[in-house]
Amino acid sequence: MKTIGLIGGMSWESSIEYYRIINETVRERLGGLHSAKSVMYSVDFSEIEALQHAGEWDAATGLMVDAALHVQNGGADFVLICTNTMHKMAPAVEAALAIPLLHIADATAVTIKSQNLHKIGLLGTKFTMEEAFYKGRLEDTHGLDVLIPTRQDRDLVHAIIYHELCLGQIIPASKQAYVRIMQDLVARGAEGIILGCTEISLLVGQADSTVPVFDTTRIHAETAVDLALA
Ligand code: GLU
Repeated sequence: MKTIGLIGGMSWESSIEYYRIINETVRERLGGLHSAKSVMYSVDFSEIEALQHAGEWDAATGLMVDAALHVQNGGADFVLICTNTMHKMAPAVEAALAIPLLHIADATAVTIKSQNLHKIGLLGTKFTMEEAFYKGRLEDTHGLDVLIPTRQDRDLVHAIIYHELCLGQIIPASKQAYVRIMQDLVARGAEGIILGCTEISLLVGQADSTVPVFDTTRIHAETAVDLALA
């Protein structure tokens, strides 16, 4: 079994999910007392969030590269950045490492395409929904047709992530808002919905959608186990 490297803490509410899913999946596949070999370096999310919203991406990249090197030095065979948003600096992290990075958008796109879906709704932070590093990668590298909410709804989806989900707050009115926004995407032709922020599955899931949902946390974690056991 290979050792899975995790850059966590963004937020720790979802890092816990990664740890749980990875270990449950290894137990399902290997049985008995088997669990995953893993190394996690967990950051202080307050520092990261401040840099994101100040647009200080060079400093944020420095923190991600430093975290990735800690994970590599801890014995990981490959690395996961346990957030969609911080894949904005995936190229710099990859360049600094001697071990591979398992990209969350690539793992998600492979899963979507295995179900023969093409037109897909994307929920996440505004960075994830609007920028080339994520939406663009799904479109240009993977050939998906990506729909995002209206500008006003993107603001709402983003605010709920930072002001509630990353603080562990699950609020029914916010769930209703997400369900409405997912329905809007389906009405515009989305054949599936990407939960493109690692905390969104704490709020909504398959039961809240008429089309398949793609939970990036679960997909990323399960793909890591595939790789670790390959
Ligand atoms: N975990 C979230 C994501 O997957 C947002 C937190 C962050 O900004 O990293 O994008």
